[in-house]
Amino acid sequence: MFNESRLREIASSLAAEQSYFAKWDINYLQAFIRDGGNCQYCERYLFEDYDVASCGDHLLPRKSYPELIKNVHNLVACCTECNQIKRDFDPAKNDPGDLGNEEYRKRIVEKAKNHVKTIGAKRNWRAMFDDARAAFEKKVHQYRGINSGAAK
Ligand SMILES: [Zn+2]
Repeated sequence: MFNESRLREIASSLAAEQSYFAKWDINYLQAFIRDGGNCQYCERYLFEDYDVASCGDHLLPRKSYPELIKNVHNLVACCTECNQIKRDFDPAKNDPGDLGNEEYRKRIVEKAKNHVKTIGAKRNWRAMFDDARAAFEKKVHQYRGINSGAAK
């Protein structure tokens, strides 16, 4: 059973006790606690590394549901990779409902999870990252070349 006020209380005390969480959005912190710190799409435990991204994911995309931006029911613990894959996918399209309803919400999370799995399998994100890194490093090199040229 989802107890909203109790969850908020627990999240607030964590933020007060641990400065690591001081700058986290309190709504996201609640979602992370509810989700046990596991990415809701790939199930990865997000606290295995120290630089846990507090970004998470909006289950229903911000663009289409601005009224749900800070709604805890609409926030999920999510890793950066799954967040990149999911983007603006709307799992509630053709299936509108109330995220406060646990059964409905479970179904919507499952839809988003399946989408992430399908898209993630189609694209080779590791190769995309490697390409992006190579291009990035090239630009850094280019910038440094220009910069050292100007200093002369
Ligand atoms: Zn993930």
